[in-house]
Amino acid sequence: MRYWKIENTKSGLVMGAYLADSEEGALDAMARDAGYRDHAHACEVAPGDDLLVTALWGVDDRVEGGDTPEDYDTGTVLAIGDDVYEHEPTARERGLVSPVLVAWDSGVRTVVEALDLREEGEAPLETPEWRCQCGEVVGELCSWTGPRSETVVLEWMPPCFRGSVEAARNWGVYPENGAVRIRVARDCADLILETDADWAFEVEEGME
Ligand SMILES: [Zn+2]
Repeated sequence: MRYWKIENTKSGLVMGAYLADSEEGALDAMARDAGYRDHAHACEVAPGDDLLVTALWGVDDRVEGGDTPEDYDTGTVLAIGDDVYEHEPTARERGLVSPVLVAWDSGVRTVVEALDLREEGEAPLETPEWRCQCGEVVGELCSWTGPRSETVVLEWMPPCFRGSVEAARNWGVYPENGAVRIRVARDCADLILETDADWAFEVEEGME
């Protein structure tokens, strides 16, 4: 018994994760959820869907979860389906569709949705390194690299456009006015904002 992911290959829609012993069993389980006797019955009534069935997790499988390095962890599946609530009765209140009880390698146990888990090693998460782009403004290569959280986005006007921007009074009308946006290290941003105050400003997070 394990979870199987069923998705519609035409629409890309994930129909859900279903408990079954086999691919066919998963299709039957989905059909029963929708009010049919089994998959064959569903095909008679509503044919034409291209469904892709992929094996997900069973007990003792290794999984990983978390989207950011902070909450990323690997663990082992302890229970699936209703068995989860024998271990963790209070999790029933959360109304999970496809519950999985995971013993994380960090020592904690949590109940999560089957579709929120990945196979161990499937998507190795690495801290993305961002390279400072201040060289485009300063003209010298900057060697700073680091996490995105230590960078900001600047809008900056190259000197060649400044005359026309003054004439047209269109400073801030990015990108039509010729301005560029660069992601730079916090320290480099401060330096540019200080030395080129009239022609640079910080673009707020979410507005870039
Ligand atoms: Zn820099």
